[in-house]
Amino acid sequence: MSSLSSMTWDPATASPVTPDRPVVVVGGGPVGMTAAATLAAEGLPVVLVEQSPQPRPDWRASTFHAATLELLDTIGITERMHAEGLVVPTYQFRDRRDGLIAEFDFRLLADETRFPYRLQLNQQQLVRFLAERLHGDQRVRLHFGSRLTGLAITADGVRLTVEGPAGESDLLASYVVGADGPRSTVRGALDVPFEGFTYPERFAITSTPVDLQALLPGLGHVNYVADPQEWLFILRTPESWRVVWPVPPEMSAEEAGSAARLQRQLQRVARTSRATR
Ligand SMILES: Cc1cc2nc3c(=O)[nH]c(=O)nc-3n(C[C@H](O)[C@H](O)[C@H](O)COP(=O)(O)OP(=O)(O)OC[C@H]3O[C@@H](n4cnc5c(N)ncnc54)[C@H](O)[C@@H]3O)c2cc1C
Repeated sequence: MSSLSSMTWDPATASPVTPDRPVVVVGGGPVGMTAAATLAAEGLPVVLVEQSPQPRPDWRASTFHAATLELLDTIGITERMHAEGLVVPTYQFRDRRDGLIAEFDFRLLADETRFPYRLQLNQQQLVRFLAERLHGDQRVRLHFGSRLTGLAITADGVRLTVEGPAGESDLLASYVVGADGPRSTVRGALDVPFEGFTYPERFAITSTPVDLQALLPGLGHVNYVADPQEWLFILRTPESWRVVWPVPPEMSAEEAGSAARLQRQLQRVARTSRATR
């Protein structure tokens, strides 16, 4: 990777954003896609560089709260999110043995926000909606399958080195938005420190098409379940139910994610008649 150029960039003399020197957004996750859509909505030419050949389909976050929906509403994407998402106005705190402890109702916030609920929608769907939206925008060029490898600040902007399907090439930008995740190449190239620590706890996230509400009457669509041995988090997404539990420190990732263990764990949450031991 090229190191940060010693030349200092001066915003007062920097060239303006033009199609030849667009804003380059590195990273096509939810943050990069939203940044690109927001900049394009302001009329700016944008290039988005994403190493994955298409919007990433990974199962990750599954919930949107009011503040995020308000932000996404400014780029006109929430209608589509609501068409495919699940509106959940309440959530529960439960005890694994004793059942419901308390239920909270977001509708009490109706005077505060237009979105007094959680919207359950898997993160990859938002990324897909945004990619489709950006594809149709003439101000935006999408470079999927293109990985940023180097970046240097010049007198009038930024020169990025990108490895794409046709090999290595340079891109000139007036501004760069680094939205390339926790191991950001942009941050590394700029020597920007990233202080903090990694929590030692690990969790297993499992999805099942089995209707847990039918097996556990009274279960809400979003449930935080307390237990002295093994707490749980159970929530509904449009595609499936999702169950999250802690992984014991001594257990290997292979064992924690093995089909047999996941099935055993799920059966302890809600037993199906077809269950095998
Ligand atoms: C299993 C799981 C469950 C999660 N659940 C939740 C949840 O319930 N709630 C919640 O709030 N958050 C959750 N998260 C966290 C959430 O997914 C992240 O906070 C979110 O993805 C961050 O978005 P981002 O756009 O900043 O980064 P990312 O989604 O990581 O996107 C960064 C993008 O940059 C691309 N990229 C990286 N390096 C380069 C490069 N050199 N060149 C070009 N492209 C590059 C990557 O391919 C990627 O597409 C979860 C994460 C995981 C893994």
